[in-house]
Amino acid sequence: MPLFLIGVDDTDSKAGMCTTYVAAVLIERLEKIGVNLAGFPKLIRLNPNCPYKTRGNCGIALPVEVREEQISQAKKITLDTVAELAELRSPTTDPGVVFYKGSKIPQALKDWSLRVVREIVTLEEAEKLAESVGAEVHKFKLGRGVIGALAAIGNTLERDRTYELVAYRVPENRGTPRRVDARSVEEMDRRTFPRTFDNIDPSTGEIRITPHTPCPVLYGIRAEDPEAALEASRMVKVEEPIERYVLFETNQATDEHLVRAKIRDVEPLRSFIVDGRVVGYPKVIPGGHVIFKIEDETGEVDCAAYEPTRQFRSVVKQLVPGDKVRVYGGAKQRRGLPLTINLEKIEVLELMRVRRKLNPICKSCGRRMKSAGRGKGYVCKRCKTKLPPEAAKIVEVPRKVDVGLHAVPPRARRHLSKPPSRELLVKPPPREF
Ligand SMILES: [Zn+2]
Repeated sequence: MPLFLIGVDDTDSKAGMCTTYVAAVLIERLEKIGVNLAGFPKLIRLNPNCPYKTRGNCGIALPVEVREEQISQAKKITLDTVAELAELRSPTTDPGVVFYKGSKIPQALKDWSLRVVREIVTLEEAEKLAESVGAEVHKFKLGRGVIGALAAIGNTLERDRTYELVAYRVPENRGTPRRVDARSVEEMDRRTFPRTFDNIDPSTGEIRITPHTPCPVLYGIRAEDPEAALEASRMVKVEEPIERYVLFETNQATDEHLVRAKIRDVEPLRSFIVDGRVVGYPKVIPGGHVIFKIEDETGEVDCAAYEPTRQFRSVVKQLVPGDKVRVYGGAKQRRGLPLTINLEKIEVLELMRVRRKLNPICKSCGRRMKSAGRGKGYVCKRCKTKLPPEAAKIVEVPRKVDVGLHAVPPRARRHLSKPPSRELLVKPPPREF
């Protein structure tokens, strides 16, 4: 049986629907006619800096096993489901559906997928590519979703992947507070972390598996492998009916959006990993954001830890000129402000030694001496003993930041950003698709 993939994107709006739910309903409807999944449904996060994004900016792709004579029926079910469930009234929702049939995913589609995660692309480019690889494109309204639908089909998750088990609410409960037992989530986290991750924000104790939007998602559990996700979901107690579950394979938490670069090559709307030395001291600006500058041999760039990153800012505030760091984050150019990397993580590679001059102690009375004026040495206030400037003691000040990786807390983490807990785990084996 040939490979058949269905890609869908941009069906949601800020008000409600979620593209993963469209996929979930579609899976059920296809199974009803005997068209089953031929692998995990894929949830592919796209460039988080894209100005057109709705919320999470994701595309989905379903690999299915379909006999030739069922293909037209499967296509019809897909298009009808998108027409029915997509938020077509929302002015910024422009769904796209792509069908791809072939023996394997062409390299051009894999390359496209990476570009859509890392760059800003156009709908025209997407349509041209679809035509060249023989993918069938369906646009609703402007059809901007074709970009992500094609990217979801093309992402084979060869380098790295994680899983997310999503539980959906019944329609009558959507928009009401989610009834998920917080203590059962804490217990689940204790028993399954780090095979599951970002369940709870340790800085606030806040449960992170439940979203805060009116969408159909009850909760989503992120995991290293399908077994961990399933095991964890059995531990979570809920006090409302669950309509359905779907276990997605995803590029979330893989850092797929980040590209290593020199400062000269950092540009807006993309995400980078940059090594540099801190220039000047970090500044706290109104709103509680912390800004500092780094440089390499090609230039300088601002880095920012914004207020929602909470205690991450106190790490950043401790940096001093000359510290060697590796920064991770999306570059943004706000009107009238310098280009800024919005930090997701920082790795402190090397700390400068900070020294401080300490006034000498008076030999006669054991008291700390005072400065006798600039360049005039020291004087004891009590016995008037004098000492030359060289008598000062140079002491090393302990640094209040550790060498190593520091990340924003889960509440401020981007979907694509890899949490430090994943660094400790053995990576999944690379695979061919
Ligand atoms: Zn004295």
